[in-house]
Amino acid sequence: MSTQTDQFKKVISHAKEYGFVFPSSEIYDGLSAVYDYAQNGAALKNNLRTYWWKSMVQLNENIVGIDAAIFMHPTTWKASGHVDAFNDPLIDNKTSKKRYRADVLVEDHVAKIEAKIEKEVEKAAKRFGADFDQAQFKSTNPRVVAYQENAAAILKRLGQSLEKEDLADVKALIEELEISCPETGSRDWTEVKQFNLMFGTKLGASADTAMDLYLRPETAQGIFVNFLNVQKTGRMKLPFGIAQTGKAFRNEIVARQFIFRMREFEQMEMQFFIPPGTQQKWYEHWKATRLKWHLALGLGKENYRFHDHEKLAHYADAAADIEFRFPFGFKELEGIHSRTDFDLSSHEKYTGKKLHYFDPERNESYVPYVVETSIGLDRMFLAVFSNALTEETLEDGSVRTVLKLPPALAPTKVAVLPLVKKDGLPELARSIVGDLKWSFETTYDEKDAVGRRYRRQDALGTPYCVTVDHQSLEDQTVTLRMRDTMLQERIAINDIKQIVGAEVAIEKLLRKL
Ligand code: ATP
Repeated sequence: MSTQTDQFKKVISHAKEYGFVFPSSEIYDGLSAVYDYAQNGAALKNNLRTYWWKSMVQLNENIVGIDAAIFMHPTTWKASGHVDAFNDPLIDNKTSKKRYRADVLVEDHVAKIEAKIEKEVEKAAKRFGADFDQAQFKSTNPRVVAYQENAAAILKRLGQSLEKEDLADVKALIEELEISCPETGSRDWTEVKQFNLMFGTKLGASADTAMDLYLRPETAQGIFVNFLNVQKTGRMKLPFGIAQTGKAFRNEIVARQFIFRMREFEQMEMQFFIPPGTQQKWYEHWKATRLKWHLALGLGKENYRFHDHEKLAHYADAAADIEFRFPFGFKELEGIHSRTDFDLSSHEKYTGKKLHYFDPERNESYVPYVVETSIGLDRMFLAVFSNALTEETLEDGSVRTVLKLPPALAPTKVAVLPLVKKDGLPELARSIVGDLKWSFETTYDEKDAVGRRYRRQDALGTPYCVTVDHQSLEDQTVTLRMRDTMLQERIAINDIKQIVGAEVAIEKLLRKL
């Protein structure tokens, strides 16, 4: 088994074992690609959502937040283009009866070429030692240059065929590249077909009067249809943004990568309304701003990269993904899209209502353009969680599992541990919990030896442990132990709140923006 798959398996089992993510309805053997967030997972997810929400709504005078319904008038999805164009290219393998996304098969093929490039780079880095110039090597080594050209050519052709909806050429590409079913190796493929990803449902009690609805496949449309309501009631002036977090639903053809691709997931989207002609500037602005938001978490600059879209969605004039190095390689984490006036104009057409803005500076009225930032909360969760999960070999040869979450995101900030379960230590520890819990998530743990308790908190990502011992009773001091360094410090009980509080506050992250 590759180390990548190994690492990913560890992530999934750690998420289950430590109460972060459970398969949905597990006692019924689960439901494909649907997951529940458990006690610690819900806390981590909330913290991520708060970090996003505050960075958008609290820090920007001209961005407000809403919470629109999941059900929307069905014509919304006609206007947005989802009824006609929200499709993925599907292909079946006749021998294995397995279903795949045709574009993903090709992209995975390219990822293998990219892995070969990385291997060559690693080998060369070892050979040349300190003198190694990676950029120069990549641009001059004939084998690596050929790999890169090949990968670029494949992606270009895929992009063009999808753009033209030339599904026969996507199939031809799969055949030319000799791509086989990853599970069985068979190359016996069906034709490529389009598949609409929206879930349908019905509103109303009786069969004949019921109305066909969709579960929203993106949160964005709830913002577009409320554009004028918010602009008028909030007296907003362009440029301004509307932010929203909430569930979205997609009947994904293949959903096998844990919470990376789910059928029910949560999005955090912000639509930024701007005057036409300024979209290039704002597109660059939001690309940079969003990358900064990610980097503030400290997961490592080398784990992010931009990927500009070859194939643009039906609504976009420019689009880029922020990709993250997941345990299974670089994949999309967030999209930044310049959506032009497509959505608002289309809603105007379908409703017959004007969605114009009167610009006092230009002294004219127009349909605003939109630049959006759209990130999956679950994918963000997976990025942070998989990056944080670390195994360290200690001096005594034992292995320590640590979840190195940014402290502001950790489900529990402090665990208070009485050294022993007697002599009044539990009482003092409980009174410390009773005081700290007003400021941040604090837990009490007295079970097992203190070393084992430290390890349990390490695995849960708790950044601080406070240990109460006999000396604490005499001088009102405790041991503060740091998760990442395992260093311990003697501090006064009265100082815990201040020392820990500053480190675990979301403000600490927000200040880096
Ligand atoms: P992909 O190409 O991976 O299907 P997409 O380009 O269709 O994603 P968008 O429509 O741009 O995705 O959605 C914005 C964000 O929502 C994505 O960047 C991703 O983080 C998240 N997202 C999309 N689909 C899913 C899903 N099925 N499960 C979890 N998150 C998702």
